Amino acid sequence: MLVELLGKSVEELREFFVALGEPAYRGPQLYHALYAERRFDFAQMTNFPAALRERLNQQASITLPRILRQFASVDGSIRYLFSLQRTDGGSEIKAAQIESVFMPKENRQTICISTQAGCAVDCHFCLTAQLGLIRNLTAGEIVGQILVVLAENSGHLTPQTNVVLMGQGEPLLNYDATMAAVRIMLDQKGLKLAPRHVTLSTSGIVPGIERLSREKVRPNLAISLNASSDEQRDALMPINRKYPLDILLEACRRYPLRPREYFTFEYVLLGGVNDSPDDARRVLRLLANIRAKVNLIPWNPGALPYQAPTPESIDEFHRILLEKGMPVFVRYSRGQDVFAACGQLALIESGNSSSLTEISLG
Ligand code: SF4
Repeated sequence: MLVELLGKSVEELREFFVALGEPAYRGPQLYHALYAERRFDFAQMTNFPAALRERLNQQASITLPRILRQFASVDGSIRYLFSLQRTDGGSEIKAAQIESVFMPKENRQTICISTQAGCAVDCHFCLTAQLGLIRNLTAGEIVGQILVVLAENSGHLTPQTNVVLMGQGEPLLNYDATMAAVRIMLDQKGLKLAPRHVTLSTSGIVPGIERLSREKVRPNLAISLNASSDEQRDALMPINRKYPLDILLEACRRYPLRPREYFTFEYVLLGGVNDSPDDARRVLRLLANIRAKVNLIPWNPGALPYQAPTPESIDEFHRILLEKGMPVFVRYSRGQDVFAACGQLALIESGNSSSLTEISLG
């Protein structure tokens, strides 16, 4: 059985080489090749002796997610449908499909990645929830999405890459693999991303938030709020019955933010459900004494029975928060025509918009 090397830390790679009877320094060399140089074929690792490359071919693998299909949006974003099937540590892992989204802008690119195939959390406004949990991803499968998307777009990248862990899955319910991947992303000898450019979004898993607060290296934290009262949140996000707002927000108050670090609270505006001026005022009260900014995300009409908010209700909600000094931004989801937008990553294989373009994989 081949040993999978993608997703291993530098220490794990050192141990791997020592177990092979090779010098430990081969570990950092391979780590550098994988994450800093993004070389995934042992044959390309010409700083390794030919005999070692041959041994690696026979005993180890570097398995990247395989692109099944990709869809280009008129707004420039690309949704990737990946297939995952690999072996790891001697045991076969269940095949799965996941999605990632590439969102280029003038001065940066943002990559939205998945941490689980499907999701068990069951937020009612989210298409991914309808899949249920298929399985957790490994660290290599999480970081592999970034590596493939960067390689696919290597001709037109800007120096700044942002990563958001907001695709399929609840990252804090796959904590160990997610954090192993995040450490590689933030390692200045790994993917070299700045902590402020990596954002983990959670539905509010309080033990995970507490665990994250004790990490030496950690990403920005975004909380998917989406409601202004427990009653409303219970109805939209059943996880709220387990971790209600007072417990969730108390965990946020205790969280040791770095200087100039903010929590981002994401609030999907669902027309007629949570978008009234009273909701806005209640959100302000909930977030009192938390260093917070709020992203308002107008609902993307789709397969689920919710309405988009009116432009007037978006403006009013925004104004009420802004007037009380809350940093607040309206974020229109990108890639709506290719089902790449927030809450839409559910393996829908094609859109029904005439602007949808499936890219030929040749
Ligand atoms: S919004 Fe996130 S946590 Fe909630 S069901 Fe969808 S993928 Fe899971």
